[in-house]
Amino acid sequence: MSNIFESRHPLVQHKLTLLRAVSTDPKQFRELIRELALLMCYEATSDLGVKNIEVDTPMGKAGGLELTEKIGLVPILRAGLGMVNGIWEMMPGAEVWHIGLYRDEETLKPVSYYNKLPTIPTVQVCLILDPMLATGGSAVATVDILKEWGAEQIKFVGILAAPEGVAALQAAHPDVPVHLAKIDSNLNDIGYIVPGLGDAGDRQFGTG
Ligand code: URA
Repeated sequence: MSNIFESRHPLVQHKLTLLRAVSTDPKQFRELIRELALLMCYEATSDLGVKNIEVDTPMGKAGGLELTEKIGLVPILRAGLGMVNGIWEMMPGAEVWHIGLYRDEETLKPVSYYNKLPTIPTVQVCLILDPMLATGGSAVATVDILKEWGAEQIKFVGILAAPEGVAALQAAHPDVPVHLAKIDSNLNDIGYIVPGLGDAGDRQFGTG
C-alpha cells in the first residue's frame, strides 16, 4: 500500500490555488501556509492513538476519547516555520523541535547546522513540517536524524511536492507516510517545483 496521501479536500485545493498566485502578498501567503498546515495536519493525524475515558457533563456522564500519544512538531528551517503556529494552536501540548540543514556545495548532500533534539525521545509521533518537498534531500536527512534519535512514528506533512522528492523520500523511508496538498509536474534544473509557487521561504518572509 502506498504511503503517499494527496489531499482531495476542496478547501485545501482552494487555498493552495491562492497560495500559488504571484499576486498573493507575504501577509496573505503566511496566513494561507498557516491554514493549509492546519488542514494537512488534520488529515495526517486521523490515526492518532486514543483511549476511552468518561467525563462529567452538566447532565451526567459521557464516554469520550483522549489522545494517548505525545506529538512533536519538527519544522525544517526556514520554510517549515510558518507551518508551526496553526498546528500548535490546535495541539498546544505538542513539543516543537527545530532542525536546520544546508546543502554542502561540494557533496550536494544536506548537512545539519541546527539540531536541539534531547538525547532521549520525548514524543511518540513526529510530524516533519516543510511546505516544499522538492529534491527530498532535507526530508530524507531529517527522517534519518529522527530515526537515529529513536522516534517511534514519523510522518511528513507538506503542501507541494515534486514527483522526484516523493520518490526519494519513499525510496529511503518507505515506512514514513507523506501527506501533501498536491504533487506537481516536475523539478526544474535549479531544484524548483514546477509549476509550484516559487520560493516558499522568500514568499513567507518577504525576502528575495
Ligand atoms: N523550495 C522552495 O521554496 N520552492 C521550490 O520550488 C523548491 C524548494
